[in-house]
Amino acid sequence: MKFPVLLWLFGLVALLSVAMPAQSAELSGLRIWSAEDNTRLVFDLDASVHSNVFTLDNPSRLVVDLDDTHLKTNLSHAADGDSTVKAVRSGIRQGNDLRIVLDLARPVTPSDFTLPPSGDSGHRLVIDLKHTGGGRSSGAAKDKSSTAAKDGGGDPIEAMIQAQEKEARAKLAGSNPKDDPKVREAIEQETTPASRQLAKAHPKRDIIVVIDPGHGGKDPGATGPGRTREKDVVLQIGKRLKAKFDAAPGFKAYLTRSDDRFIPLRERTRIARRHHADFFVSIHADAVRSGSPRGTSVYALSQHGATSETARWLAQSENNADLIGGVDGDLSLDDKDEMLRGVLLDLSMTATVNDSLSAGSDVLGYVSRFNTLHRSKVEQAGFVVLKSPDIPSLLVETGFISNPTEERLLKTASHQEKLANAVYQGIRQHFLQSPPPTSLLAWQRDQARGGGADEYRVRSGDTLSVIALNNGVSLSALRKANNLDSDVVRVGQVLVIP
Ligand SMILES: [Zn+2]
Repeated sequence: MKFPVLLWLFGLVALLSVAMPAQSAELSGLRIWSAEDNTRLVFDLDASVHSNVFTLDNPSRLVVDLDDTHLKTNLSHAADGDSTVKAVRSGIRQGNDLRIVLDLARPVTPSDFTLPPSGDSGHRLVIDLKHTGGGRSSGAAKDKSSTAAKDGGGDPIEAMIQAQEKEARAKLAGSNPKDDPKVREAIEQETTPASRQLAKAHPKRDIIVVIDPGHGGKDPGATGPGRTREKDVVLQIGKRLKAKFDAAPGFKAYLTRSDDRFIPLRERTRIARRHHADFFVSIHADAVRSGSPRGTSVYALSQHGATSETARWLAQSENNADLIGGVDGDLSLDDKDEMLRGVLLDLSMTATVNDSLSAGSDVLGYVSRFNTLHRSKVEQAGFVVLKSPDIPSLLVETGFISNPTEERLLKTASHQEKLANAVYQGIRQHFLQSPPPTSLLAWQRDQARGGGADEYRVRSGDTLSVIALNNGVSLSALRKANNLDSDVVRVGQVLVIP
C-alpha cells in the first residue's frame, strides 16, 4: 500500500466519521405480556441493536429483524399461554442478522422503542402491539416494506427474503454467484428459519477462501531497494497460503491469479464471487519513501450506514479501474493509488465488518509471534453501505518491501511460510468460532455438541405425515421417537427426528 492511500483512508474516516459497529449483539430473552387491547414485547439484548419491525398479513405476523445479532436463548416457548402471540420462530439472515417472526392471533399495529441498561436490566427493544381487530388476520395493519410478501401464494417471509436477495443482487455489479441454483439453495438454507434448515441433510460444504496476490503483469506494485518486486513476493506467499487451506479439511482456496498477469481490480472481486467465496484476502507488501518502517498490517473495511455517497464513489472507482485496465504501458503512481482505492472500495462493499475484524485480529495475533506489527490493531475505515449479504474481506500488508531487512526476509521461503501460516491460522481460527451453517465445520461443531441438529420445529401448515416424509422417516418412527399418541402437532413444537 502506498502512503497516499493511507492518508486518503484516514481522510475518509474523518470525513464520514462513521461509528464502527461493536461486536455482534446477543438476544438473551423475549418477554411477552398481552392485555385485552395491547401486547408488549421486550427483547433483552447485551448491546444496542439496529432493528426493523413490521407486520405481515394473512396470517397476521410480526417480523423483527435485528442486525448483527445472535440468538442466545430458545424462543420456542416464549409465547406459551399468550392470547395474542401464538408462536415465535427465528431464522438467520445474511449470515449475521437475526429474524424473529411472531405468529399472531389478530392483526396489530406495532410501535417500538429502545431502553438503555438500568438496574438489573440491560439493553432492551420494546415493541408495543396495539390490537387492531378481534378476528384472525382481517387485513389491517398494512406494512410498507412487505410488498414482496404479496407475491405468489408461497410463504410470504420467504418471498420477502428472496426479494431482498434480488435487490441486493441488483445492487452488486457484474456477475453474481447467487444466480447459480446451487448457491441459491445454500442461501435459502442459510436464510430460512433454522428449523427448516436443520431438517435437511447437512451439505458439509467446504469454506471457500479466495486469495488475491496483489498487482501482477504490467503492474509490478512496489519495488524494494534490492529490486524485489511486490507482485512476485505476494504471488509466492499467496500460493503458499492456498496450499495450506487446500490441505485443511473443510476448506478450499482459489487464487485470483496464479501467474504474473494483470487483473483489473473489479475482476478480482468478481472472481471471489464466482467462486462463492466465504472469505477474500488480498496480499500486498508496503513501500514508503523512508527505508526504516517495517512490519505487518491488516486492513478491514466495512459498509455500515447510508448508501448514496458510497454508491457514487463505487461507480467512480469502477470507471477508474476499467480505465486503467484498458491502458497499455506503464501505470503512473496516481493510477496505482486509484487502483488500490478501487480494491479497498471493493473490499468495503464486500466486507462483513465483524467477521473481517475478528479474522484480522486473529491474523495479527499469529503474525506477532514472529514479526513486527506495523499496526497492532486491524485498521478500519467506515463506509456507508448497502445492506447485502457478502464476503468478509481483508487486505494484508505483509511487510515493507522498502525496508532492506524486510525486503530480504520477504524473499525467503521460511518467512513467506510463516506469513502464509499466520494468515491461514487467523482465518481458520475465525471460521472455527463461527462457521457458516452449511459448512463441514458447522456440522463437526454440532456433532461435538451432541448432534443437536436432528430436530425439527413445527411450522404453520405442517402435518406430522409431511414432516415424516420431508425427513425421510416413517410416520410411526417419528411418533415413537417423540412419544406421540396422536398426530396432532402445534406450531413451535420441537420434534426429534430419529
Ligand atoms: Zn500492493
